[in-house]
Amino acid sequence: MVKVIALANQKGGVGKTTTAVNLAACLAAEGRKVLLVDSDPQGNATTGLGLDKRDIKKSIYDILINDDVPAKDVIIPTAYDNLSLLPATIALAGAEIDLVNMMSRENRLKNSLERVKYDYDYVLIDCPPSLGLLTLNALTAASSVIIPIQCEFYALEGVTMLMNTIQRVQRNLNPALKLEGVVMTMFDARTNLASDVVNEVKKYFSAKMYNTIIPRNVKLSEAPSHGEPVIVYDSRSKGAQVYQELAREVIGDE
Ligand code: ADP
Ligand code: MG
Repeated sequence: MVKVIALANQKGGVGKTTTAVNLAACLAAEGRKVLLVDSDPQGNATTGLGLDKRDIKKSIYDILINDDVPAKDVIIPTAYDNLSLLPATIALAGAEIDLVNMMSRENRLKNSLERVKYDYDYVLIDCPPSLGLLTLNALTAASSVIIPIQCEFYALEGVTMLMNTIQRVQRNLNPALKLEGVVMTMFDARTNLASDVVNEVKKYFSAKMYNTIIPRNVKLSEAPSHGEPVIVYDSRSKGAQVYQELAREVIGDE
């Protein structure tokens, strides 16, 4: 059974894209068929997998806006086995506005993915840093959500608003939506603060927290500029190791 997982947090820079790209690559390396959907106008998941945005003819924007463009015409293979990409370009920046007056505007990604999702074991959707229509489309299309939370002082700030949005989507758009898990990112073992934050978040999410905690690791920040997931860029790095661990935890919940 396919799992469609949205990576959501309206805060920017918390590790959504890093987690989307590397979890997708690690799930694919474990033999799962994976589609990574880039739903951020920044297109960082797209470039992070080595695609040049100038070469992309059709993107997620086209399937959201145009009923005549099926997802299968936009999905492209990547350099990696079992891993396909539904890319984004800056064109997506206009979608939030273009969608406002469209019919069933929150359901457009869901409807479009419906015809391709059964080709995969996992569909991961990288959300933009907002709770606008792109994130609502992702949460409506998803079976579950992974929330990346950065280990910093204001970690839980905004999480209440995110949880309220998830509940609103459950009530109105997608009753089956579940919380898949919460992953702590950019952990710095040298500070007490980071451990305090992890404990604080644990109180809030308890069993939903993944045991795997993603540390700060320079290889994770270098890999995107080489257009490679970290397991390819430096397979022996700590970053590669922890995202493989996270993938195995996600698979354990299948
Ligand atoms: P978001 O998608 O939530 O905006 P990103 O995944 O793009 O966040 O991460 C923000 C920045 O932090 C990026 O430059 C990324 O390379 C870097 N980064 C993310 N996770 C880590 C990590 N664990 N260690 C080091 N750098 C990281
Ligand atoms: Mg991002």
